[in-house]
Amino acid sequence: MRKKAAIIGGSMSGLFAANFLQKINWDFTVHEMVPSTLSGRGAGIATYDELAKLVEITTGFSKTLGTKCIDRVVFDNKNIVVSKKHYPQVFTSWQYLYDILLSQINKNKYFLGDECIRIDRKKDCTTAFFKNGKKITADLIIIANGIRSNLKQYVDKNKPEYAGYVGWRGLIEESRLSKKTSKAISDYFCFVLPQNQQFLSYPVAGTGENGLKNGNRRINWLWYKPVNKNDINILLTGKSNKRYEHGIPPQEIKDIFIRKLIEEGKEKLPDTMNELIVKTEQILLQPIYDLKSKRMFKDNVIIIGDCAFTARPHAGMGVTKAALDCYDLTLALKKSNLNNINELLSRWEEKRINESMFLLNKSREMGSYIKEDLSIKMPDNMKVLNETAVSIQDINLYPEKLNLINI
Ligand SMILES: Cc1cc2nc3c(=O)[nH]c(=O)nc-3n(C[C@H](O)[C@H](O)[C@H](O)COP(=O)(O)OP(=O)(O)OC[C@H]3O[C@@H](n4cnc5c(N)ncnc54)[C@H](O)[C@@H]3O)c2cc1C
Repeated sequence: MRKKAAIIGGSMSGLFAANFLQKINWDFTVHEMVPSTLSGRGAGIATYDELAKLVEITTGFSKTLGTKCIDRVVFDNKNIVVSKKHYPQVFTSWQYLYDILLSQINKNKYFLGDECIRIDRKKDCTTAFFKNGKKITADLIIIANGIRSNLKQYVDKNKPEYAGYVGWRGLIEESRLSKKTSKAISDYFCFVLPQNQQFLSYPVAGTGENGLKNGNRRINWLWYKPVNKNDINILLTGKSNKRYEHGIPPQEIKDIFIRKLIEEGKEKLPDTMNELIVKTEQILLQPIYDLKSKRMFKDNVIIIGDCAFTARPHAGMGVTKAALDCYDLTLALKKSNLNNINELLSRWEEKRINESMFLLNKSREMGSYIKEDLSIKMPDNMKVLNETAVSIQDINLYPEKLNLINI
């Protein structure tokens, strides 16, 4: 009989898990709590050859994943390029990747509006319970429900820790930029490094058929700024006076904070970058967290993706890490007759924790200067260009990088 997995969470990790399991002929169902097809989740995603390869292995999709930049540059606040690095790289958007991953699985196995509220084990049988009354028992339960998981604790008790800073972010159509700004920034992975902060931008696909064509792209920007624990409470209190715990819906962000952002941009950013902020219709605010795990499985339940480890975004590895969690899992499961599943999952867990802890520590170190301490020494421009969102093959000391994907 075909073995069966129940996957909780239908975003990047959940979809990679489904695609990989399909490859080794496991049956699966995906359960996503949001009631309508997921769309428009922010944002740009930096990609690497290894991510493109993992997408191709699981889905057969071998075209480019997005827009390409050839060079990375650091600007000073007067629009002068002060450092440059040649590093060709593709940038995609969350939506583009989501659509590719979703298109390859049987839609009858992808359930929207299924919020899992509990996982229980009785007499060797593990069951996922859903708010709508569903109950699912499977050979393997895969928890892929993100950093705010209500289910992770079944496997591991660690909770997210606030990193002391936030990312303001936005997407703007290239066609809405002035000629000067578009010429200066649209083809580059751009950085500005004000004291204690980091601003960056890169082009991603626009919406519609010719979204990869110059002029039709969108520019994704991010501004990391320190915010202490008191002030984060104020920032996360919405126009309605509702206090949000971890992230605030964009329409709730108080206008005064957007005005302050633009004012600060005038002082600290080149006018090209500030134009991105001024022209963005919906600015998002994302508090940054670290989340780690001591365990990634218990019984026949595993945790993957952001739910297991969330590293700060500077290594740009969240999606690749999720794909590798699933790739390594299928290598383990391929050999499994389920009698030896504990032993196989132990080895999988050891490898995944090792790599994920490495990325967590690396990203923490990369963001360590973004804190409320004006005396802090800023990193060298070239260090930022050499380390931010680069391929695993270019990350010094990444564990066993030569054996990453054995195809
Ligand atoms: C500012 C920023 C920049 C980033 N840049 C990059 C980048 O350049 N490159 C990169 O690779 N990564 C990047 N990332 C990280 C990347 O976005 C995440 O690693 C990735 O989206 C994690 O996917 P996930 O599926 O594990 O979790 P999520 O995307 O959080 O998905 C979890 C899903 O589970 C669902 N869910 C939650 N609870 C339940 C429940 N009880 N029952 C059923 N469903 C449930 C949710 O609705 C959601 O759809 C960035 C992150 C940030 C914050």
